[in-house]
Amino acid sequence: MTAVRTSDLVQAAGMAGEAVFAFNVITVEHAEGIVAGAEAAETAVILQLSENTVGFHGGRLAPLLAACAALAATSHVPLALHLDHFTDPSLIATALAGAADFGVSSIMVDAAHLPYEANVERTREWSTAAHAAGLWVEAELGEIGGKKGAHAAGARTDPDEAADFVRRTGVDALAVAVGSSHAMATRDADVDIALTAALAAAVPVPLVLHGGSGVSDELLNAVVRAGVRKLNVGTALNIAFTAAVRDHLGRHPDGNDPRGYLAAGRDAVAEAVTRLCRAVKPESATR
Ligand SMILES: [Zn+2]
Repeated sequence: MTAVRTSDLVQAAGMAGEAVFAFNVITVEHAEGIVAGAEAAETAVILQLSENTVGFHGGRLAPLLAACAALAATSHVPLALHLDHFTDPSLIATALAGAADFGVSSIMVDAAHLPYEANVERTREWSTAAHAAGLWVEAELGEIGGKKGAHAAGARTDPDEAADFVRRTGVDALAVAVGSSHAMATRDADVDIALTAALAAAVPVPLVLHGGSGVSDELLNAVVRAGVRKLNVGTALNIAFTAAVRDHLGRHPDGNDPRGYLAAGRDAVAEAVTRLCRAVKPESATR
């Protein structure tokens, strides 16, 4: 099947009391591993590219997105393509202009580093432009810790402010700060479930949890029960990928074919994806 729309996956998750995972793709091997892992778990997922990853690929969106779209076309589980943490106006313009060609159906525009009113203003502009391009739009309020050192630890999103933000910006989903942090290598984030539930009650759009790698299975299930409908996971896959590559190279110190260690990394990504998809289950979400 061709790539499905992020909005459809998130809406279906919401109706089922579930969440859809959005996994960060850095290389083609990441994408292949994520798709293999999702297929093994028989679960629809979102493949997302961050602005930082686009930078890693020389500022070009097309090569990796084309690979993701090709994988979606042959996958037997539904896959959507999303752009994550876009902040550069010229790159956002490029992304919106090419979204249809790239198979991309959604974007997260990130002005969360700005003061509140400026965040509202910038997000509203980008949201309007992205809607005109046919995209579903996610934005962030209350900086989610751990990104580029720009975020204060312990940031939390205020429910009243969140309601005001969504109303004034017209975004389709809101990434909230409830205790998770980007780039965590341990799974001990202290997520505020009561605040998550209060935010879900206060805003009329789906909530997104960033920094899912640092959250235990138990708390991931709890945030889904509290109303989170999109779970972003990147670091956990990088940890799995890199550990497998390191292990392979350690065991094959004279090897020089990249396919050996990249295959090990890719398999580790697939395993991590399958494990997470099975650990955050619909039964848990509705229990
Ligand atoms: Zn994020």
